[in-house]
Amino acid sequence: MPTSSPRVLPSADELVRNVGAVRGRIAAAAARAGRDANEVTLVAVSKTVPLDYLRSVEAVAGFTDLGENRVQEAAPKVDALGQAGPPIAWHLIGHLQRNKAVAAVGLFALIHSVDSRDLAASIDRYAGNAGKRQRVLFQVNVAGEESKSGFAPDALRAVAPELAALGRLCPEGLMTIAPLGADERELRAIFRSLRALRDELAPAFPGAAWRRLSMGMTDDYEVAVEEGATLVRVGRAIFGQRPAL
Ligand SMILES: *Cc1c(COP(=O)(O)O)cnc(C)c1O
Repeated sequence: MPTSSPRVLPSADELVRNVGAVRGRIAAAAARAGRDANEVTLVAVSKTVPLDYLRSVEAVAGFTDLGENRVQEAAPKVDALGQAGPPIAWHLIGHLQRNKAVAAVGLFALIHSVDSRDLAASIDRYAGNAGKRQRVLFQVNVAGEESKSGFAPDALRAVAPELAALGRLCPEGLMTIAPLGADERELRAIFRSLRALRDELAPAFPGAAWRRLSMGMTDDYEVAVEEGATLVRVGRAIFGQRPAL
């Protein structure tokens, strides 16, 4: 039995090196694909990273975009951070329950994980109540994995007109999570399908920002950038291994 060891977070110097290394790899992957690296936003995934640590490193780390997968965990971080530097854009990347949608609308610049029409409708309603528009991505379960949430591609095609009619939602593109342990060929196929689906659905979402593709994590973000990612969600390569739950 593995015993749980206390979490070791990188020193400020190590963190700066980690972020620099990830940015360098993003730039190299973009160059290989003939893309401009500025089209790719690095979302540093700070789930499970304690607020006190984030506060102590935020000035040197220069975070612009942070990702969280739970509303309750994110709320105090959103309140407390972004004071030592430029404001931080917060991204919700984990499954959102409808009863948390009202809180999410108040916290996140971009919700990557809209995975049902009902959730989209709830977000739209709460955004309307708050007098704002909510930027969202639709999560797609490209590989059809039982364990993952997300629209099946055909289901998303079918509801696209209804989603497009939600006036307080700003749909900006698609998100996917690749299957754990997929090899490079499978990864490329999945990322290409997501890109093709985004392009196919563009006429249904005529907004100017319908161009985003959130795909790629620590193990696969370079392949994702080569295949067109505009947002990569990287946790472990920046903050180190997460403790086993
Ligand atoms: C945790 C998480 C990430 C980051 O994963 P790493 O492997 O640590 O880079 C990205 N996306 C989602 C949806 C996650 O839950």
